[in-house]
Amino acid sequence: MAHIILKAAGFVSRLRKALLDWYDVHGRDLPWREGERDPYRIWLSEVMLQQTTTAHAAPYYHKFLRLWPTVASLAAADDARVMAEWAGLGYYARARRLLECARAVVRDHGGRFPKTEAELLRLPGFGPYTAAAVAAIAFGHPANVVDGNIERVMTRLYAIEAPLPAGRVEVRAAAEQWLAPERAGDWPQALMDLAAGVCRPKAPLCLLCPLREGCDAFARGEAERFPVKAPKTARPRRYGVAFLITGDGGFIAEQRVGKGLLGGMLGLPHTEWRATPWKDSEVGPPMAGDFERAGAYEHVFTHFTLSQSVWRRHAGDSEIQELLRLHNDWQLVAPDQQRALPTVFRKAFAVKP
Ligand code: SF4
Repeated sequence: MAHIILKAAGFVSRLRKALLDWYDVHGRDLPWREGERDPYRIWLSEVMLQQTTTAHAAPYYHKFLRLWPTVASLAAADDARVMAEWAGLGYYARARRLLECARAVVRDHGGRFPKTEAELLRLPGFGPYTAAAVAAIAFGHPANVVDGNIERVMTRLYAIEAPLPAGRVEVRAAAEQWLAPERAGDWPQALMDLAAGVCRPKAPLCLLCPLREGCDAFARGEAERFPVKAPKTARPRRYGVAFLITGDGGFIAEQRVGKGLLGGMLGLPHTEWRATPWKDSEVGPPMAGDFERAGAYEHVFTHFTLSQSVWRRHAGDSEIQELLRLHNDWQLVAPDQQRALPTVFRKAFAVKP
């Protein structure tokens, strides 16, 4: 449930007009705003702008329009060519979804983008934000477009204390109050331009802001405190011991099982990665003989930090053959093939006692 106090409708209406007037004068000249509102161009720009700045996306936008000026021409494009032209823009799943979507528009909609948010949402790669943005900007529907920039403006206007992402319900309710049916396509762009140039993350220019009179965060003198972010939870630590067993022909690596962390990749044999450090007496090395305690290193995964000790041993040919016989999933890897290992295991080679 949202817990914001809505503002008086007449007051919102007056400030909304003030922002649209400001947008008419100060709105940015962005390439995808030139000419008529073509849903293909607007969609292309929205996909490219995900996790990418406008300055970085603009040359790609021009290039794609030159190569594939319509959704039908993009749908007919060669996959490898599209991926190659996308190179450098990052997040390559976006390029694959771009092609899937273009083909769905041609196959299922006769080459025309559907006009409603609900229909757009069913297209590949369309999430709530993209569907709302295309519905509003291309088709003039008063859709509730909320991206990170509009979130910032809304959390400040209403001084929303709920940290994001949990506070997004309140942000949506706040943004809903401001929708402008008469200029539905301009409204989200006006908010985004305000967010980019005035309601900036740091040092917002409140004295230049046409919404200042209705801004709760400004009234409190703490605009920059919003949006409130959830405190970062500390990443847990796990401990392991990796066994670096070398022979004359290389080092022992294991083929990891297909699922889970680093599934299907090569790795060094190692103990379980657990929450408490290993005592030497608890470690069961995979072969007899003296292992050198080479040292330890850290590796940060998304969900935990690993502290891994390295135990090293040089084995004779017969010992290596015995290990390979005992472990079907182990192999001897040539010394210059360390790059076949993920970084978390490659680091073991650099550990110095
Ligand atoms: Fe943002 Fe300041 Fe305007 Fe409030 S007054 S919306 S904090 S720029």
